[in-house]
Amino acid sequence: MSVYRPLVCLFRHGTAARAWRTLTTWSPVGAAFNARVHRRLDIFHQNGLFGVPELSCVEGFEVVQDRALQETQQLVEEACRCPPGVQTVEIFDKLSDSLCRVADMADFIKVAHPDPSYREAAERTCINIGTMVERLNTNVDLCKSLKDLLDNEEIFSKLDPETRRVAELFLFDFEISGIHLDKKKRKEAVNLNVKLLDLSNQFLMSCHMPNRIEKRALPEHIHQHFTKDGNYIQIGGLNADAPDDLVREVAYKVFLYPNENVMHILEELLSCRDKLARLVGYESYAHRALKGTMAKSPGRLYSSEIVSDFEMMREMKTKLNPRNPVSFNNMACWHVVFYLCRFNIEPSLYSPYFSLGACMEGLNGLFTQLYGVSLLAEQPSVGEVWSEDVRKLDCHFTIRGGRQLEDGQYQLPIVVLMLNLPHPTRSAPTLLSPGMMENLFHEMGHAMHSMLGRTRYQHVTGTRCVTDFAEVPSILMEYFATDYRVISQFARHYQTGQPLPQSMVARLCESKKVCGAADTQLQVFYAIMDQVYHGKPQNRSTTDIMIDMQKKYYGLPYVTNTAWQLRFSHLVGYGAKYYSYLMSRAVASMVWKQCFYKDPLNRETGERYRREMLAHGGGKEPMLMVEGMLQKRPSIEDFVNALVSDLDPDFETFIMDSEG
Ligand SMILES: [Zn+2]
Repeated sequence: MSVYRPLVCLFRHGTAARAWRTLTTWSPVGAAFNARVHRRLDIFHQNGLFGVPELSCVEGFEVVQDRALQETQQLVEEACRCPPGVQTVEIFDKLSDSLCRVADMADFIKVAHPDPSYREAAERTCINIGTMVERLNTNVDLCKSLKDLLDNEEIFSKLDPETRRVAELFLFDFEISGIHLDKKKRKEAVNLNVKLLDLSNQFLMSCHMPNRIEKRALPEHIHQHFTKDGNYIQIGGLNADAPDDLVREVAYKVFLYPNENVMHILEELLSCRDKLARLVGYESYAHRALKGTMAKSPGRLYSSEIVSDFEMMREMKTKLNPRNPVSFNNMACWHVVFYLCRFNIEPSLYSPYFSLGACMEGLNGLFTQLYGVSLLAEQPSVGEVWSEDVRKLDCHFTIRGGRQLEDGQYQLPIVVLMLNLPHPTRSAPTLLSPGMMENLFHEMGHAMHSMLGRTRYQHVTGTRCVTDFAEVPSILMEYFATDYRVISQFARHYQTGQPLPQSMVARLCESKKVCGAADTQLQVFYAIMDQVYHGKPQNRSTTDIMIDMQKKYYGLPYVTNTAWQLRFSHLVGYGAKYYSYLMSRAVASMVWKQCFYKDPLNRETGERYRREMLAHGGGKEPMLMVEGMLQKRPSIEDFVNALVSDLDPDFETFIMDSEG
């Protein structure tokens, strides 16, 4: 049993929350999203959040939670009583559904609701459900009912593949909690899990804590860029957007200055993870984390191919340089983001062509052509959603997973996308920068993964699949978002209706490649570091490991007295799976090139993609889905080639072009 955490996308930027429901009726949506919203939603009205009537008031959380816990109790008894068979898996899935639908919703409300009393109530619910999940995962009788099924060769072998896979996934959740251990060791596992939860929270909090430096240590003219705190200056980020080199350099050196205490927390966290993994029978934490993924085992990840791939990228960067004032060879880390993504396009020239309405119409057109489905903007019932601004986060949340119901109907999923978008003004609708547009496409890729999934069990619905496959549908959408044939279908000026000029489309598509090379290199470095941290324990500090990895895998030199890893919050959520983004990108790239590149709006290909990849969620082994789509099983070389080939074509042409 596991309660799913939403997969927050790796790197995206930064005010409105919009909720989409899965819909079955159809019409264009552009006008709806460009219209001004006059109404202010009354969140205390009778229709509760997401249509749950009890959630029209804060007290409702307890009611909903208690009902789920009671239902759980009954289902546990039922599972323990029933003879092994398909019904065992069905009961487990119901059990998971009744807990997940409360936990997932609470998970979302606790970060997104404007009212703190709602956020607090949701937080309590999350904790109570989490405690129940922990208890279930160490419930020996419950586990035995599942094991009886898996051990019964005769019955198990006759089950359909999806049911078998889901049964194995449920068993895996028990195993990582150490259920197979003796009482003493099981207790140790529980204690380690509790300690890990605490260390993870501590690390996450300290990742974003500002560092401070005495005012007089910095030149006065840059003080204005930071927060003042008496005789100190607080620096809470890298200020990567600041045009002044000195501001970025100071921010880099102060924000990343190592903190002994945080260093200790991280080292403790890694050591506890290692202990827990070995206690439950794995070689390392990375081995445990990669079970069931496409990568399968840690060794396959940092093979020599990836290293040679790096050499190639470095060469490419050197090629890029002669005509540019910034030498990429002597560049410091604080220049990377700023220069690489700046010297090509000006977002404000593009945004009038990317009104939210135009983009939604673009998505609608794309989905109609590919899958034969369309979106409908539906007016939410009063009280069902809230309309105020939320946090700085771009991600998606599954509020309810899809599953086959006993009466033959399908439980439709509910997905929320949370995006940071500018407000509409008196004279203009919400206008998106190219980055935001691409991001909207990305998040809609996740949403469609959930909405078009038709798994029998909610345990494997849509994005509830292995981490290294989860980003495939969303990254594939980025390819659509940067293809001129797709962009030219929807990018129109919100006032004049003029289409986005061809030359601007071309420049936009090319600029993605420039950022891509630097970004891929950085991602490879991060991914390898994450693997090494979660591999065999080493007798050296995390900083020493990082310095070593940076030297080997990253083009830019390490800056003395910095400890970037202490700001790498993804070490908590992704632990040993940070590579997932690259892996998913490689698969998306292969699917795009082989299947969609020739004709991105082909209905037949769209249908095949839906059938082979989207429909299965996590109910089918990811490599089999990839194989079904590509008609062959890709090798590790194919994965690497896919990443590299994204970066090469027309590179120099573009640089010349952009200087003209
Ligand atoms: Zn994503």
